[in-house]
Amino acid sequence: MRAAVIDHDKVTVETVPDPQPAAREVVLAVAGCGICGTDLHIADGQFAPTLPVVPGHEFAGEVVAVGADVSEVRVGDQVAVDPSLYCHECYFCRRGRGNQCERWGGIGVTVTGAAAQYALAPAANCVRLPEGVSPADAALIEPLSCAVHGFDVLAPALGDHFLIYGAGTMGLMMMELAKRAGAATVSMVDVNPSRLESARELGCTAAVTSADELERPHGWDNVIDCTGVLAAIEDGLPRVVSGGTFQQFGVADEKAVARYSPFDVYRREIRIVGSMAVLRSFERAAELFAEGVLAPDVMISDRLPLEQYPAALEQFRAGIGRKIQVVP
Ligand SMILES: [Zn+2]
Ligand SMILES: [Zn+2]
Repeated sequence: MRAAVIDHDKVTVETVPDPQPAAREVVLAVAGCGICGTDLHIADGQFAPTLPVVPGHEFAGEVVAVGADVSEVRVGDQVAVDPSLYCHECYFCRRGRGNQCERWGGIGVTVTGAAAQYALAPAANCVRLPEGVSPADAALIEPLSCAVHGFDVLAPALGDHFLIYGAGTMGLMMMELAKRAGAATVSMVDVNPSRLESARELGCTAAVTSADELERPHGWDNVIDCTGVLAAIEDGLPRVVSGGTFQQFGVADEKAVARYSPFDVYRREIRIVGSMAVLRSFERAAELFAEGVLAPDVMISDRLPLEQYPAALEQFRAGIGRKIQVVP
């Protein structure tokens, strides 16, 4: 089969052996595979413990082969796949925090992924898609499941006001979930005008290039950073209402250090929370997706052939478009 391959100094598309399912695994014909910041980190030599690796952790497709001990999914089923691989044995797994697993792995990160014609997945990680859901669009369920976990951590109240930094795919997903979660208002900040346009199209309260343009003297109940950019983080934290929450959702550089006022956090009782990947949120994301929480044609800006994976990755790095998919 054809597959994208990330090695130390290059990204290529190559012919590699077809996958064979072990007893509790399935093989899917990939319908679509999304690209995200994690793939860039892998290409830059981070995250993946061994290279070369076939990337691709946001995917869905049709089951074309099942292992000997698989009965819950069948050949012909359309499934989305939770790429998380937990050990189920470590301190964090035993405490129900698989996303903090000490031996955390991921399809397309630590093992062969789905930027390929076919992909292997444990049967236990497959969620069947209901009739009428496009399997290519369903590749959005994985990033959506990260956003759903973000909301689990955030635990907002009805009537809350939201301020979200970054109107890329994740910011737009957080915006859609905020509306579902009973937000009074959801305002978006981004320096990229075309991204703000998408946010307006999807129905945010306001879309601005600086939060200074917004009138909310007491601040926002929930300020969510979906950029990982220090300037946005440092601008956003002081805008949390007293007693409100700041969420670090965007992935900052590992070595970055942000400035904030500990006195202000103490005095105004600000809660600061993080959110990392997927935790018991994949099924719910699949159900929300099937119910139409996202507009796939707005979220997915580009669908490129698998053979153009290197160019797709560079387009993502350049910040052009929203969710970019490769389609085998
Ligand atoms: Zn991703
Ligand atoms: Zn573990």
